[in-house]
Parts: sequence; structure tokens; C-alpha cells
Amino acid sequence: MDANLAKTKVTALAGDGIGPEVMQATMRVLEAGGAPIEWEMAEAGAEVFKKGSVTGVPRETLDSITRNGLALKSPLETPVGFGGKSANVTLRKYFELYANIRPVRELPGVITPFTGRGIDMVIIRENVEDVYAGIEHMQTTSVAQCLKLMTAPGCERIIRAAFSVAKAEERKKVTCATKANIMKLTEGMMKRMFEKVGPEFPEFKQDHIIIDNCAHQLVIAPEQFDVIVTSNMNGDIISDLAAGLVGGLGIAPSSNLGDHAAMFEAVHGSAPQIAGKGLANPTALLSAAIMLLRHISAFDVAETIEQALFITLAEGKNLTGDLSPRGHGVGTAAFTDQLIANLGRTSNLPSRNYKQIELTAWPELTAHSEPNTRELVGIDVFLETDLRSEELGKALEMIAEDTPFRLNGVSNRGVQVYPPTGGQTFLVDHFACRFMLKHPIPLDHSSANGQPEISYLVQRIGTKFSWMHIEKLQSFDGKDAFERPQGEG
Ligand code: NAD
Repeated sequence: MDANLAKTKVTALAGDGIGPEVMQATMRVLEAGGAPIEWEMAEAGAEVFKKGSVTGVPRETLDSITRNGLALKSPLETPVGFGGKSANVTLRKYFELYANIRPVRELPGVITPFTGRGIDMVIIRENVEDVYAGIEHMQTTSVAQCLKLMTAPGCERIIRAAFSVAKAEERKKVTCATKANIMKLTEGMMKRMFEKVGPEFPEFKQDHIIIDNCAHQLVIAPEQFDVIVTSNMNGDIISDLAAGLVGGLGIAPSSNLGDHAAMFEAVHGSAPQIAGKGLANPTALLSAAIMLLRHISAFDVAETIEQALFITLAEGKNLTGDLSPRGHGVGTAAFTDQLIANLGRTSNLPSRNYKQIELTAWPELTAHSEPNTRELVGIDVFLETDLRSEELGKALEMIAEDTPFRLNGVSNRGVQVYPPTGGQTFLVDHFACRFMLKHPIPLDHSSANGQPEISYLVQRIGTKFSWMHIEKLQSFDGKDAFERPQGEG
């Protein structure tokens, strides 16, 4: 190793199932390749859950990652039947690792139906917001709700991260993939932010694609994509899809970056069926470790190891069973030996000319601007009832009569059912009842912000109906800051 390189401390989580085996193999290759890393071993996952932890991540592990700001993580099991949360999610959320970077590149020797197409893209998935915030409530016994929260700073920083990756990897195009056509406020926020921030990076071609067409295009013509930036759930799905194009999850690495810490991991799980048998393929975790090396600017070592991996796969000698057709595979140790023997050799597939990824910290984000005026224009009251929509609508009109509100309409699962539209909506016992203020109320620090008016109406509704929750309807600079149900005129 280069004697001039100071060693960087990295927390290593050996994980569950095949985790310890792939971690040991990865550490052997990094050691042999001269990686300037000093490991600090820490625990998380199944064994920690068994000791009664609810998060699966002990305090010492959190402290170690906080100190080092860097972690290499093997797969962690999410036990079924005991333990509360996923230890993986705990780590992502605790350290606000908001940028999930998933490179998807055709590897030599890994033959797939797409081999030869030149697939080489990177998917940037927002990692902490969206429906994965896990804010869910049963509304009635038969209606469940999940809140999809997307924020302006959350969208801005992931879009900036995408352009930063594009710069660091000398890429040419950034594509933003959203479902903005349907979810105009949440997914639309990501699209609008992309259009606002994008012009700061004129060196890249930029386009927007609807996420379902993105999935389609990924299968039809995956080589058209370079960098894709998208929200959490979209990214979860398309990054697995894209991994499938180049050989599957077993070889896919990812990094999770935040302002204060970065965690690198294999995409696959703990493969309990083959755990302890010495059969696991360490390629994904090793590739994640290569990303870690680049993150700490150890570019030369990263390239040496990556080239050894490429040539090992390309020559097809001593590959693990999952990569060897007809069951000619070797074990983890023999594959690792072969890789180490290949250190110093170069393959026909050049490594990219990587540089460091620069993230924009939350306080430095600039794209969001506050509106000049903000008004309360109404409320949606979500209530539970078995009444038919006509009866419900008439009852609510009477309730609203001597209040500052008027009933605008009632919808069921997002479709207007009162006043009737002639549509044939199947009704559940959960209705959204929209009341508009006869006179909008300015929302500023000098007024009660409509509090007495809302309380009066809701108290009256509560005497007849069981309400579940209330949403304020606002307008920003005179523009509705809410969506209309399907069918509303
Ligand atoms: P899995 O990825 O563990 O296994 C899917 C299939 O791929 C299995 O056939 C397995 O044998 C094979 N496989 C996976 N990695 C391999 C490797 N390196 N070498 C050879 N074969 C490999 O997915 P699963 O079975 O759905 O999940 C098992 C456990 O892993 C669950 O407890 C799950 O919660 C956890 N998990 C953790 C992570 C993570 O830590 N990021 C991700 C996914 C799943």
C-alpha cells in the first residue's frame, strides 16, 4: 500500500446470514489491494434484536458510525415475529442518509439477455421521505391511509446530489423520473425542483420521464439512461429492475450518503439458505467497498481492485456458484483468492474517471421560496359513516348552514360522490367532505388563523358524525395548494 496514505477509520457491520463471509472476503481483498482503511467492527441485526433491542442497532454502533462518518455494512435480517423496525431503515433514518446511489453497469462475464447493450447508468433514489416515512393510520376498520410526504429541501438536495454524481462520474445526461402527472403536488414538487435547479448545470442534457414509462424504457432501451434521479418508492422499484438487467441483486452495490455519514452496502439480503456454507458471492459488498474507497478519494486503490474484479469475472475462472453455469462454481474463499491473484491486472472494461461527490448540506439549499401571501380557504373533514352519499351531503349542507363555511362536495376514495356526477363509484365508509370558507382568512402571525371558525364547524360535525382527521385547504399567492377530487368541477 501507499505508505503516504493515512488510514481512514470505517465502521464495519458484518451483519447476518452470509454477511460475515462476504465481509471477510471483502476485507481480504481490500487489505491485499492496499486500501488505506482501519476497520472498527460493530454489531447490528438479528443477534441484536434477539437481545431485546427494538431497533436492531445498539448505541455503540451508532456512536462508532457517528465518530467515523463511514460504514461498510453487510446485509441485516429483519426478523419476522420479534423486534420492531428494520435495522437497515433505522441506520438510514438515524444518519439521514438521504441519497441512495445505485450504479448499474454491465459487468464482463456476467451474461444476461441484455449483454452487449452497453448498460452503464446510475440511479439516485431519495432515501428517507415519500411513503417510506411509514406514516400510516387505519381510518376505519376497512380503510388504511399512508401519508406521502415530500419536502422542497428533500427534493432539492437529492436533485443536487444527482448532478453532483453526474459531475463526479463525467456523465452526460440527468433524467428525472416522477409520477407528476397524477401526484401533482408531491411528485410534481420533485419535477418542478428539477426544472428549477437544472439550469444551474447546463453542461448536462436534462429530461423528465413519467416513472411508468421509465420502467418500460429501462427494459426496451436501457442504454439511453445515464443518471436517473427519483423519489423513494419509484427508486426502490426501478433500481431493482435495473439491477436485474445486468445480472441481478446478488452483484449490485449501493451507497447511502448524508451530510454527516455515508454507508456502503450490498443490495442483496442475508441469503439464509446458503449462510455458513462458504458459497456466497462477495462481489456486491466488494463493489460497495470500491464505492467507499472512491468516497474517501482512494481512487487508485479503488481502480486496482475494480479492475481485478472485472478481469476475474471476464475470465470466468473460479467464480462462485451463482455466476457459474452448470454448477461449476467454487466457494467464497477460492473466488477471493482468484481476485487477489488478479490484483494489478487490467480488464478490457475501463473504470470510469471518478471524482468525489460533493453534497449540498440542508442549510445551504436555496431553491425554495416562501409565498408572499397565504390564506386559509377551507377544510377537508374525513369522516366515517354508512350513510349514502346523497343523505350525507344533505346532512352536511344543513350542518354548515350558519357557519362561515359552505359544503363544496363529498368524495369517496378520491372521487366526487356529492353533488352526484352520475359516476358509478364503489362506496366505502370513509368520506372526504370539503368545506370552503365563504371569506378566506389570511394565515399570518397576527390572526387566529381560522382556528375558531374550524373549531365551530368541526364541533357541529362531531355531534352527528365520527370524524377521523381534518386537512386545512390553503392558497399560496392566490393559487390552490391542494388538489381537487376526480369529478369535481
Ligand atoms: P436475499 O437477497 O438474501 O436472497 C435472494 C436470493 O439470492 C437467494 O436465493 C440467495 O441465496 C441469493 N443470494 C443473495 N445474495 C447472494 C450472494 N451474495 N451470493 C450468492 N447468492 C446470493 O433476499 P431474501 O431471501 O428476500 O432476504 C433474506 C433476509 O435478508 C431477510 O431477513 C431480509 O430482511 C434481509 N435483507 C436485508 C437487506 C439489507 O441488509 N440491505 C436487503 C434485502 C434483504
